[in-house]
Amino acid sequence: MTDVPVRLVVDRAACAGHGMCYGIAPSLVEPDEQGDPVVLIDPISPAQWDDAHTAVSVCPERALSLVPASSSIDPEESSR
Ligand code: SF4
Repeated sequence: MTDVPVRLVVDRAACAGHGMCYGIAPSLVEPDEQGDPVVLIDPISPAQWDDAHTAVSVCPERALSLVPASSSIDPEESSR
């Protein structure tokens, strides 16, 4: 594991909104009014990496990813 800060990013175009991510990592992701995931914490602290990796791994659409915090990608890169 690295000490490089990371961000959790949602690809809105890929997300199907079935909520497995916020069901398994509610401290990091919550649903908005439409049930779409909203990333709550940016960047992810090292203490939250396990939860973040779990959220990424459960997403059947591969809509979540972890990127370096230095990335210019918006946490909700394809949102609205
Ligand atoms: S698990 Fe993946 S597809 Fe489902 S709401 Fe979360 S990001 Fe979207």
